[in-house]
Amino acid sequence: MIKVEHLSTSYSTIDGPVHVINDVDFEIFDNEIFGIAGESGCGKTTLLKALYDIVEFPLTVDSGKVILSGEKNGKAFSFETGQIRKTWWNNISYVPQAAQSVLNPIVPLQQQFLDSIPKEEKKRESKEQIIKRISTYLEELSLSPDLLKAYPFQLSGGMRQRVIIALATFMAPNVVLADEPTTALDVVVQRGILMMLMRLQKQLKNTMIIVSHDMGVHYQITDRMGIMYSGSMVELGRTEDIFENPIHPYTQMLVGALPRVGDKSQKKGIPGRPPALTNPPPGCRFAPRCPKATDQCRKEVPKFREVMPGHFAACHLLSREVVQNV
Ligand code: SF4
Repeated sequence: MIKVEHLSTSYSTIDGPVHVINDVDFEIFDNEIFGIAGESGCGKTTLLKALYDIVEFPLTVDSGKVILSGEKNGKAFSFETGQIRKTWWNNISYVPQAAQSVLNPIVPLQQQFLDSIPKEEKKRESKEQIIKRISTYLEELSLSPDLLKAYPFQLSGGMRQRVIIALATFMAPNVVLADEPTTALDVVVQRGILMMLMRLQKQLKNTMIIVSHDMGVHYQITDRMGIMYSGSMVELGRTEDIFENPIHPYTQMLVGALPRVGDKSQKKGIPGRPPALTNPPPGCRFAPRCPKATDQCRKEVPKFREVMPGHFAACHLLSREVVQNV
């Protein structure tokens, strides 16, 4: 469905390019919820922008590409970086970070739904028919069709988030990208949003890609996930395996820092900070924070490779101590 082939991107700055995504190479399948996790500033949102093809100055793709392919209504499609935007809303849609602020506060929601529908679709049906379809869709999502008459400023943050998810999924896109869909919402609303995303994915049988720094979100709803660190994918596999048997030291520390029911031990955070992308260390970028770092780690960049079927990681130790809880 989505193939990311050796993708590298950078931002242009007055001090020269800052490399944000470095040779990322992986696949996301049909009919799955895929999570992208990692600390703030590790490149998650930039990767999502590249997947959605919002590559505009100062962001540039230096090498590699993203391929979006599949089938909709019996018609095969394939688009790659530079073409993906042609199929926005139809085959792929995006719920941006702080999505609640994306809706135009002074335009009624009905008009915002109508504006999101491609022209070709509008030619096939009358405006009344489309509005009826939107109302039915909102009802399916347990949202009142009366919302269409409302202005965004009249809704709570949680309701605006639900509306934007409805907007992004109305055309039944094959892929939905959601950037931090639960950030800035209280826990009860967060749970409602996660349930809504899961229900939609089951209904549409599409691919959902969720970016979140919150490991709890990934644990609850994703089927597979990738862990990013300083612009690189460092581990990828089934969510269950990532939580039960993390094999990269960074993932082990992330998972080890999570509270568990009944576990009274004091949790330690990960010492230090991710390196500045303007001046990353040579070799493995996690080396300055990694308790297992060796001289080799400080010189050579570890390769991202399949360690077990479907489970990938980038760490020099894995060649010697495969999966023995490094
Ligand atoms: Fe740690 Fe070395 Fe593995 Fe990097 S390559 S995570 S520094 S052991």
